[in-house]
Amino acid sequence: VKEQGKNNFQFYTPEMNEAVTKKMKLEIGLRKALERNEFKIVYQPQIDVETGGIIGVEALLRWHHPEWGTISPAEFIPIAEETGLILQIGEWVLQGACRQNKEWQNAGYAPLRMAVNISSRQFQQSDLVERVRRILRETELEPQYLELELTESIIQDSKYAVAKMQQLKEMGILLSIDDFGTGYSSLSYLKTFPIHTLKIDQSFTRNIYSDSKDASLVETIIAMAHNLDLKVIAEGVETEEQLEFLQQKQCNEAQGYFFSRPISAEDLAVILQERSVS
Ligand code: C2E
Ligand code: CA
Ligand code: CA
Ligand code: CA
Repeated sequence: VKEQGKNNFQFYTPEMNEAVTKKMKLEIGLRKALERNEFKIVYQPQIDVETGGIIGVEALLRWHHPEWGTISPAEFIPIAEETGLILQIGEWVLQGACRQNKEWQNAGYAPLRMAVNISSRQFQQSDLVERVRRILRETELEPQYLELELTESIIQDSKYAVAKMQQLKEMGILLSIDDFGTGYSSLSYLKTFPIHTLKIDQSFTRNIYSDSKDASLVETIIAMAHNLDLKVIAEGVETEEQLEFLQQKQCNEAQGYFFSRPISAEDLAVILQERSVS
């Protein structure tokens, strides 16, 4: 329906057409991406604010298409989620990240915690806990070196969320709340959910120095987390000033471009190597 009649109906604009086509192309590409080996995992260090040492990494997915180049996860994860492809892709990431972490340990580097993002569909799988258990068994990674990042909305939307989290915790896996503070949910869940860490969203970290309200928010989140015996990690740390603020407020960990962008496993090994020598 592309006629602009007297009622000004216009259901279908060229821009919409383009957006729909693009989405369909991405979906078709995504379906083939796994078997064509187009995905890669990159790793971003998580730093102990007190010692400056790397204590963990976050696994982040990258899609390199031979013609389209690199496609941002912000663009393809929602499509993968919508189509259900995220189940296979998410499992691939979990498996690959655990295997990589074990490889670093086998190479003699001090053990790191590996944080993996879990999507909504993935968390909703009824056999999620079994799948995670199987991957740990296959990769021989000890559970305390795996952390699953969940958002508030993922937890809220899932049946038996608390029971699942409890089972994961009993296995020895760590759980963190990603993008904390952006989810509009009641804070009461913090009392009952078996979580280990809050990740302060980068939208708050960004303006610590320019916006006194964001500074207060960050300070308050850190204090609250500590009162609840939770650890706090700030995401999106890009400057020395931001780091100093976080140090002052006793934030436990920090992650962001100030320390490192997400990098390949090979590049991360170089950093780990340098650190273990010095
Ligand atoms: P997220 O989990 O909140 O990941 C943090 C994002 O911030 C990453 O973007 C990271 O590269 C970026 N970042 C890190 N430090 C800085 C910084 O200092 N400044 C700025 N401006 N950005 C920083 P990325 O890799 O593009 O991922 C975007 C989102 O895609 C992630 O947000 C996550 O929600 C999703 N995602 C990525 N990989 C996976 C995955 O394997 N599974 C699932 N389910 N989602 C994933
Ligand atoms: Ca994350
Ligand atoms: Ca985040
Ligand atoms: Ca985010």
